[in-house]
Amino acid sequence: MTALHIPGFSRIGTHRELKFALERYWRGDISSQQLQEMGRTLRSRHWQLQQDAGLDCVTVNDFSFYDHILDHVCLFGFTPERFAQGAADNALDNYFRMARGRAPSGEPTRALEMTKWFDTNYHYLAPELGPETRFSLHPDKLLGEIDEARAQGFIPKPVLVGPVTLLWLSRGEQRLRHLPALLEQYCALLSALAARQIEWVQMDEPILALDLDSDWLRALTTAYHALTGTRPKLLLTTYFGALGDNLQRCLALPVDGFHFDAVRGGAEFITAADLLSPRQILSVGIIDGRNIWKTDLNTALEQLRPVHRVLGERLWLSSSCSLLHVPVTLDSEPTLDAEQRSWFAFAVQKLGELRILQLGLEGHGQEALAANAEAIAARRRSTRIHKPAVAARLAAVSADDSRRRSPYPQRALAQHRRLRLGLLPTTTIGSFPQTAAIRAARAAWRRGELDRDSYNARMRAEIRYCIEQQEALGLDLLVHGEAERNDMVEYFGEQLEGYLTTANGWVQSYGSRCVKPPVIYGDIERPRAMTVAWTGYAQSLTDKPVKGMLTGPVTMLQWAFVRDDQPRADTCRQIALALRDEVCDLEQAGIAAIQIDEPALREGLPLRRADWPAYLAWATEAFRLTAGGVADDCQIHTHMCYSEFNDIIEAVAALDADVITIETSRSNMALLDAFEAFAYPNEIGPGVYDIHSPNVPGVAQMTALIEKAAARIPPQRLWVNPDCGLKTRQWEEVRPALERMVAAARQLRQRLG
Ligand code: GLN
Ligand code: ZN
Repeated sequence: MTALHIPGFSRIGTHRELKFALERYWRGDISSQQLQEMGRTLRSRHWQLQQDAGLDCVTVNDFSFYDHILDHVCLFGFTPERFAQGAADNALDNYFRMARGRAPSGEPTRALEMTKWFDTNYHYLAPELGPETRFSLHPDKLLGEIDEARAQGFIPKPVLVGPVTLLWLSRGEQRLRHLPALLEQYCALLSALAARQIEWVQMDEPILALDLDSDWLRALTTAYHALTGTRPKLLLTTYFGALGDNLQRCLALPVDGFHFDAVRGGAEFITAADLLSPRQILSVGIIDGRNIWKTDLNTALEQLRPVHRVLGERLWLSSSCSLLHVPVTLDSEPTLDAEQRSWFAFAVQKLGELRILQLGLEGHGQEALAANAEAIAARRRSTRIHKPAVAARLAAVSADDSRRRSPYPQRALAQHRRLRLGLLPTTTIGSFPQTAAIRAARAAWRRGELDRDSYNARMRAEIRYCIEQQEALGLDLLVHGEAERNDMVEYFGEQLEGYLTTANGWVQSYGSRCVKPPVIYGDIERPRAMTVAWTGYAQSLTDKPVKGMLTGPVTMLQWAFVRDDQPRADTCRQIALALRDEVCDLEQAGIAAIQIDEPALREGLPLRRADWPAYLAWATEAFRLTAGGVADDCQIHTHMCYSEFNDIIEAVAALDADVITIETSRSNMALLDAFEAFAYPNEIGPGVYDIHSPNVPGVAQMTALIEKAAARIPPQRLWVNPDCGLKTRQWEEVRPALERMVAAARQLRQRLG
């Protein structure tokens, strides 16, 4: 029979058990033994689920107390120098110091840099390489988990990140110089695994789905030719995209099998099947490991059958990538109704789908396949998903809809006449501190302990307070403060039709941090205005202008699980139309400036450069459609953070926002180079106050940053603002920081004006 396995499983537990255990340990509330016990419990539970589903082996070493790349740093002993001492005292705490800069024991130290795992919302810790870097093998965790799995009767298939991907993910100059030394350790490890009678090792080389230059491609060939000697069989594993021009190189590697992402990689696995040597196996990742939809199993079987005929038992079935990226189980979703439930498969349900496919290839499982066909057909027909009015509106969109009435210079005149803000206006990015009282009020309202009127009264009091504070600080363009928002995507997702919120659909973002992305299941409609009452109330309290605050269509898409039955571009355009109505309603209510946040614009970029232009075209169009309905004198702002702008600067300009506020203070305005080189045409507010730090910046520090910006961008087009929203900060820090920010702007107004 066809063998079943998965590239990895989620670590956090159905109810985020790992998160809570970690946080308790960090607070000193539980011992390291208790934390380890939680690790064992979760691993055991997840292996059991794999075995119960009929998988032929369980994946080992996918579990991590923080991040699997950091685990590899420990495995190969290349901890940065500043952590070299700590390991001997307390290895676990040293591990957490590398991850987060501090731990219950040991001195606080600068953590490893955290960055996005390919195009997912998972974040890994970037290993550091330098001239002094040495490698040594510390396989205790890995071997321990293998023994643990065996002791419970499971067949372990350990997973390792491959040597070339590990170097590629690292920071440092001339990373490939380290390959020979690193390969020695991989060889030693593989022979240790062979000595433990491990049959298969999964070697992840996801960089094969990226644009690779010839050095990196050659390194792959060198590496896998060097992993000879006594070793287990190697399953070379790639995911997140097609291999394209790297396919031939990959298939020529001397390994015992390949895993392909058949969801994002399309039919490449069929080509691969023809090119295998007779002893190699092919693992086809046919179940989507990145999304939560039920698989169309009958269609999948049709794709698999020809390959199965050729390969027989050499065909394995799998999820496209690790199930790290989807929630654990539908069984803990009490709020979904039967119809909604029938649309989804979370991690545990995906294991079940693999089993049905396996049976299907043998000509069994007819009942399950028929039920699946019915569920797929029902989703296609569902009137909750397909709304003719939305389709009609989308079809009627014209090119003019995504164009403001006049070009920026003309709009700027109208806006400046209306807003009367003068040189170097000050503003903030939207949110103000989310105090314990605010969170308590929101929670009570959710639990039904606070009625609508009392809740509204509390939120209004918060808005009033926030407006008073901003007036006292002397800010120019005010905001209402976002007290009513739990999360910038969820808040709008809850009010838009076509989105649903799960009860426990948690996915790890990094370490103990989890996110619960809403699900876009159907056509998007805005039944009623979402923000007008709050913003209008804020505006009624002050003579200064108040800026409306919305999350943009690309971010609303990017931070959700997106429907798979139409192109993402279409879904994004639907969201844009719904948000466009909100923008127009705000304008109608007399709001003169509206910010449409797009922090996720950059991260939506496809992995391959060839796919960038198409993405940027529809993403910009969606933004412009959102903003395009207002008159010239309504000032459209956007905000971006976590971004390297250099790559996408032209697309940022193409948004044609009147003002963009961006994160720059940490990079000392380096990001502005991109804007200067390109001669960014509209107004910019480069953040001068790093809100990610509890430090209160000084006036001189901020004037220096503004002057730096003014040397590159005409002061008439400069704004003064923090880097990002203030919701994670305390009023005690925010007040003095903004006071100084306003003072800095005033000083410079005199100097430059
Ligand atoms: N308006 C949002 C806020 O201030 C923007 C958040 C973000 O950029 N991530 O919180
Ligand atoms: Zn931000």
